[in-house]
Amino acid sequence: MSKIEVEIPDHILKCLEGLIRENKFDDLNEAVLTAIIHTIVHADRYGIDSVKKKVKKALELYDFFTNQNKESLERYKESGIKQWKFVATNDERTCEECRNMDGKIFDIDDVKTLPPLHFGCRCTITPIVEKK
Ligand SMILES: [Zn+2]
Ligand SMILES: [Zn+2]
Repeated sequence: MSKIEVEIPDHILKCLEGLIRENKFDDLNEAVLTAIIHTIVHADRYGIDSVKKKVKKALELYDFFTNQNKESLERYKESGIKQWKFVATNDERTCEECRNMDGKIFDIDDVKTLPPLHFGCRCTITPIVEKK
C-alpha cells in the first residue's frame, strides 16, 4: 500500500487550530476525515495530484466561508446591529441541519451557530435591521 500525503497550508492549519480552541473539534474532525477519505477513494480514478488539489481547495473554501462570516459579524457589530439571521443556500445539496437553521435569528454575540456548520457548508448570514 502506498503512502498518501495531504499537505495542508499554514493559514488553514491556523484556522483549524482556531476551531479546536472554539470547541468545534467535531467540525475539524469531519473536515480532515472527509479530506482523507476523499483522497483515498478517488486517488486511483483521478490521480493523486488532482485529488490533492481538490482537498486543498475544499479546505480553503471552508476557511474562506469561516472568515467571510466572521468578518460580516464584526461589521454588523460596528454598525450597531443587534441580531443576525442564518441564511442557508437552499438547493438539492443543502443538508437537513442547514435547512433547519435557515431563517433563524441570533444575538450579535452568539457565534456558536455561525456558519459554516460543517465541511462543505455554504451558508451565510445577514443583518437584522431594526424598524422604527
Ligand atoms: Zn449543511
Ligand atoms: Zn450550511
